Amino acid sequence: MKLSLVVPCFNEEGNVALFYDAVKSDLKDVAFDYEIVFVNDGSRDGTLSELKKLLVSADVPIKVVNFSRNFGKESAMYAGLKESEGEYVTVIDADLQQRPSIALTMVNMLDEDPDTDCITCYQETRSEQKVLIFFKKNFYKIINKFADTEFVQGASDFRTFRRSMVDTIVEMDEYYRFSKGIFSWVGYNVKYIPYVAEERATGTSKWSFKKLFAYALEGIFAFTTAPLKVATGLGALSLSVSAICLIIRLIMLICGSPFNPVMLMVILITLFGGLILGCLGIIGEYLARTYVQGKDRPIYIAKNIFKNNKY
Ligand code: UDP
Ligand code: MG
Repeated sequence: MKLSLVVPCFNEEGNVALFYDAVKSDLKDVAFDYEIVFVNDGSRDGTLSELKKLLVSADVPIKVVNFSRNFGKESAMYAGLKESEGEYVTVIDADLQQRPSIALTMVNMLDEDPDTDCITCYQETRSEQKVLIFFKKNFYKIINKFADTEFVQGASDFRTFRRSMVDTIVEMDEYYRFSKGIFSWVGYNVKYIPYVAEERATGTSKWSFKKLFAYALEGIFAFTTAPLKVATGLGALSLSVSAICLIIRLIMLICGSPFNPVMLMVILITLFGGLILGCLGIIGEYLARTYVQGKDRPIYIAKNIFKNNKY
């Protein structure tokens, strides 16, 4: 098997058949064989029944990994990579924002250059809200400042890997998955090509601002311990401030000036209380992750895996 297309699907009933048609038309002239690995990430609409129809009607190998509930795109990508058999593996969305023809371009690039292990598509221009672009830009600035791993601005999950890199990624079975980080962390020789994301074929994006914000925090907590250093810094700062306050208080006492300490006490108590709670929160975030990872729960649960008879 030369190529596997890994397709995470969450509530994509309107897109599954369209996606298959697009693949068939964009890859109609290829001389190699390919499979499509759909991961049904606990969809609550008719995605599974659409996929089952495809299993019957399709004339290329198709696998459907059916999750027991929604585990999120990160888990779906992991399952797809794990279940893929191809020499090359492309992760691609089901909504046709990423054209299968670009996957073919990536395959050709890998064929031409045996030293390259992965081709990654990045969006040069984004048709998104200005606030979102602002937050994304600053997220990359912050994480690149503190993390050892390089995060390329605008790089998407739309990538084609060589098998060796896929195997390495699958070996990294950490529970909190921030794939963009994992993809960079493993190293290998990665090339970047620009692409333009199309409009979604049908349905709406699953990423709300709240979800994106939580995802950004996941990236920061998974790939840097810098926030812990911020906590230490804040501790040092509060210690210095309280020392200065103490000195001022002593000087005032020595000078015999009347002094009402209540106001100062209130300010100091709330200031330090806030700092302590903030720092505890940061430590708690890491502790919680260690705790969940320690339970060693699976990244996903596949209720069943279907395969058609084209294998
Ligand atoms: N997706 C998924 N699980 C989720 C959310 C999304 O498998 O919990 C899939 C979704 O079906 C799509 C891809 O991930 O194929 C990208 O999602 P979406 O189009 O909503 O994201 P956007 O393109 O807006 O970043
Ligand atoms: Mg999309």
